[in-house]
Amino acid sequence: MSEEKNREKEIVYVIAHCLLNPSARVKGIRRPKRFETEKKNVIQLPCPELIYAGPDRAKKSKEEYDTPDYRGFCLKLFLPYADMIEKLSKDGHEIQITGIPKSPSCGVLTASVRNLPESESFSENSAAEAKGVFFEEIEKELRRRHVLFSMNECVL
Ligand code: SF4
Repeated sequence: MSEEKNREKEIVYVIAHCLLNPSARVKGIRRPKRFETEKKNVIQLPCPELIYAGPDRAKKSKEEYDTPDYRGFCLKLFLPYADMIEKLSKDGHEIQITGIPKSPSCGVLTASVRNLPESESFSENSAAEAKGVFFEEIEKELRRRHVLFSMNECVL
């Protein structure tokens, strides 16, 4: 099979930033297992929380990140990546996107939420079936562009 034909069948892995750079995580929380990149095509997304709130940010719930400002920030951050992904998809590549369990930004199946909506002083977040804010924006933008993709979460 020619080099050109092989290239058309390749998968492009689009992964949450901390799967390759765990130092982006909120300090003191569990780090995901490093993503195996050998012989893979990998696009490492930026870490929205690190850029938006810095390395000393506190652990927050999805509700706290779910503001128009943070959503707009996430979308703006993703747009150049959306351009790359759209072009690769239209060139015949399969797009697989991997997020992080319980992340309020990068969760795919679960995102951390407040334990009790009426509680003023929660310290621990629990997880609900929801996507994180960044991954919701990613999903919306790729659907808007009619890009085919699959989304899953890594194992923590
Ligand atoms: S889960 Fe997302 S927001 Fe959280 S550290 Fe990883 S890349 Fe950053």
